Amino acid sequence: MAVKKVVTFGHPALRVPSKNIDNFNDIRELIDDMFDTMYEFDGIGLAANQIGLNKRIFVVDISHTEECDSPMVFINGHIKKGEGSCVDSEGCLSLPEIRINVERYSSITYQYLDHNLKAHTKEFNGFLATVIQHENDHLDGKLITDYATPADLLKYDKALKLMKSSNVK
Ligand SMILES: [Zn+2]
Repeated sequence: MAVKKVVTFGHPALRVPSKNIDNFNDIRELIDDMFDTMYEFDGIGLAANQIGLNKRIFVVDISHTEECDSPMVFINGHIKKGEGSCVDSEGCLSLPEIRINVERYSSITYQYLDHNLKAHTKEFNGFLATVIQHENDHLDGKLITDYATPADLLKYDKALKLMKSSNVK
C-alpha cells in the first residue's frame, strides 16, 4: 500500500492513450495503491496515467452518494454505447482548483473487468456514468480542459500555464 504522486496538467502521461493490461500479476497491489492515492487527495476517481502508469485501469468511489455503496475498479474498459446528455461541473485531481462544465452521455453501456477480473457489460446512469466517462477519458488521453469554453480558458489561463511550466522537464 502506497500513496503515489499524482501528475498534473502538462505532464505527458496524461496525453498518451493507455494500453490494455494483459499481465495481472501485480494488479492487487496496483489497485491498493490507486485507492490509497485517490483517498489521500480526496478524489472520487483516479486513472492509472494520473500516477504515471500507462495501464487501462481506473478506480471510483462514490459511496458518499446513494447511487453506489462500494468502491469500484474498472480494468480494460471501454464505452459500448452512450445515450442522452447531461452537463455537470467537473473537477480533476490532475487539475487542482479548476472546474469545467462538461457535456456527457446521461447513460452508458460500459464493458470492463472488475477487481476480480470478472467481465461485465453494464449500463450506468447518473453521477456514476459521468465519473466513468471522466475516467475513461483519462485513459484515452483526454482531460476536462478539452471541453473548456474560451471563457473557461481565459479564467484559468494563469493556473494552467503555471501547471504546465511546473511539468516541463
Ligand atoms: Zn480527472
